[in-house]
Amino acid sequence: MTGPPGYLALDVGGTKIVGAVVGTGGEVISSARVPTPTGRGAEEVFSACVFALEAARSETAISALGLGVGCGGPMKWPSGDVSPLNLPDWRDFPLRDRLSDQFDVPVRIHNDAICLTIGEHLMGGGRGLNNVLGMVVSTGVGGGVVSDGRLVTGASGNAGHIGHVVVDPGGPECSCGGRGCLEAVARGPAVVAWALAQGWRSPEPAGESLAAAARDGDQIARAAFKRCGNAVGIAVASVVAVLDLEAVVIGGGLSRAGDLLLPAVYEGFERHAGLEFVNQCRVLLAGSESGVVGAAALFLAQDQYWNQGY
Ligand SMILES: [Zn+2]
Repeated sequence: MTGPPGYLALDVGGTKIVGAVVGTGGEVISSARVPTPTGRGAEEVFSACVFALEAARSETAISALGLGVGCGGPMKWPSGDVSPLNLPDWRDFPLRDRLSDQFDVPVRIHNDAICLTIGEHLMGGGRGLNNVLGMVVSTGVGGGVVSDGRLVTGASGNAGHIGHVVVDPGGPECSCGGRGCLEAVARGPAVVAWALAQGWRSPEPAGESLAAAARDGDQIARAAFKRCGNAVGIAVASVVAVLDLEAVVIGGGLSRAGDLLLPAVYEGFERHAGLEFVNQCRVLLAGSESGVVGAAALFLAQDQYWNQGY
């Protein structure tokens, strides 16, 4: 290939997979999205990733310098083997090696919430700021932190796990073994399960139909989004107090119901953000391309965001 330089980027989620070509300035040149196959085995998911990337690349003539990937955790470095909680078909799947073989470029993988945070910091609502929390509220709840201008990785590379900040000590059990974590309350399936337990009925009990019901005025559906948003706001207020953040950017599947969610997030946040510096933090919705921009930034802004050392 002899086209202008650029990067391939992949965002692997529990419900959709996005492939993209990103320019050296962080701009998305082309993208393609496909539904995530579930229950059909590891190779089907990998094939969908290849398809999305090839579809995005076929629209451009760039020479790819690298492939950045955002994927649900947990994952291992430096092997790049992934076992996403939101993707049961992949357990210890050698994603980095498989993609590297397929596309013949270097591959870097990070947590999808970290990639969203990077994308928002580089090109989105956190641009120009030094202290930003990014969040993914979807099948799970993840997060990433930029503090004093640097991506925070922590001792084991797992910093930013806001999904396991406790918002209700007497709340539901969490997949982590704890109780009352934000994720146990606010992850999409938990929101739907809560609504069903309260008596909500739907032929398609999923987040989209719950959002539609809430917009139609269904009281249980509205209460479910309020409970979810309040929990997010409570966790955000706690984290902002610890890190003195300037902005919190929320993405992921549930953020597509931002009209239902954000008022409740603000309510929960305001109620618990007593200190002035906490209260001044902005809470925003993420752009739809942040995940792939952040994945590409593992290469294009590697000095700032790629701290893995390999
Ligand atoms: Zn937990």
